[in-house]
Amino acid sequence: MKTAGEKAAASEKKTVAAGRSQTGPVDAAIAVLPGDGIGPEVMQEGLKILEAVGERYGHRFKFNRVMVGGASIDAHGAPLTDEALAACRKSDAVYLAAVGGPKWDNLGPERRPEKALLGLRKALGLYANLRPAKVEPALIEASTLKPEALKGVDILVIRELTGGLYFGRPRGREPLGEGQFRAVDTLIYTTEEIQRVVKTAFEAARKRRKKVTSIDKANVLESSRLWREIATEVGKSYPDVALEHMLVDNAAMQLIRNPRQFDVIVTENMFGDILSDEAAMLTGSLGMQPSASLGGKVAMYEPSHGSAPDIAGQGKANPLATILSGAMMLRYSFGLESEAQAVEAAVERVLARGYRTADIAQPGTIQVSTREMGDQVRQEILEA
Ligand code: NAD
Repeated sequence: MKTAGEKAAASEKKTVAAGRSQTGPVDAAIAVLPGDGIGPEVMQEGLKILEAVGERYGHRFKFNRVMVGGASIDAHGAPLTDEALAACRKSDAVYLAAVGGPKWDNLGPERRPEKALLGLRKALGLYANLRPAKVEPALIEASTLKPEALKGVDILVIRELTGGLYFGRPRGREPLGEGQFRAVDTLIYTTEEIQRVVKTAFEAARKRRKKVTSIDKANVLESSRLWREIATEVGKSYPDVALEHMLVDNAAMQLIRNPRQFDVIVTENMFGDILSDEAAMLTGSLGMQPSASLGGKVAMYEPSHGSAPDIAGQGKANPLATILSGAMMLRYSFGLESEAQAVEAAVERVLARGYRTADIAQPGTIQVSTREMGDQVRQEILEA
């Protein structure tokens, strides 16, 4: 039973948006979706860290395990059942590891495990995808770029997730005869679609270094000209945050030339798809990349990697992307900024002390298993 105060705190907590800070203990229900392959292994470590945060800072996280992806296909014949979706909808946040694997590769597009991800994003109305690209000092040598270009790089890429070229109608092919076709995709954005994701960027920038770079192709595309106008308009409500506009081709170049100039990047779906991968590669391994998808009442947090069937069940998977996704949940769903920073700092210290899973191991470092990496981060949080 919750007290009236707890109930008020719980309803407050559900509406916490990026940029607001939670005070007092949080009592949250989290839908946990371990999925397939390395999913259950890395999720176990992610939950271990949330439990440690609860223990250290006095919060309560209740975990409700939900089956999705290949596991759900095996058990229920579908990658995302109505019951699974309902359980996610009524939670305070969704924590997903990864889905998919060779066992389900030959199923039709509607039955593939990945369909669960698209179904969840759509049903939960997740229009803003946040992918941080932060260079860990201890891993700087692992990047393909020069360390002096990477030192201090800490970028948050916000990609619009539910509009633009990937969803616009009409789309399709028209036969022109003699084996020729005309293919059409349509790039559409409405004022509201732009406003809401740009606002997310400004709110996030307020908690960081207070700079937003809005990326478009306004010299060519009408949708980009609208994007730029709306971004400028929204920016007027955030006089404490600097706004700059950049053309996407220049942005692709600047990310490699001088990535330190960026704080928060916000851009439409396809530009964001490409630039977020480019930004991620500044920082090295896939096993280190967290993400958050925000928009509706319930947000979703997941590592950027897949289910890595090649290393599943061997204790080799890097759990840090999942752990850092948990830190994003603390920040964006529960307003627990200092707890989020505590997790990020713990990861940084563990790396600085030389602990590495196989994917990021270098000569002279201490190679550990998935579980041992989670234990190290847990210990850092509890002892900090
Ligand atoms: P992947 O991300 O699973 O693996 C790519 C490579 O990175 C592999 O060599 C893998 O061993 C390694 N890797 C990935 N995560 C790692 C981690 N945490 N620690 C250490 N090494 C890691 O991509 P893939 O091989 O193209 O796809 C495998 C399956 O995952 C497919 O079924 C694919 O559809 C699915 N997938 C799911 C998601 C998701 O759930 N969000 C995303 C991408 C791919």
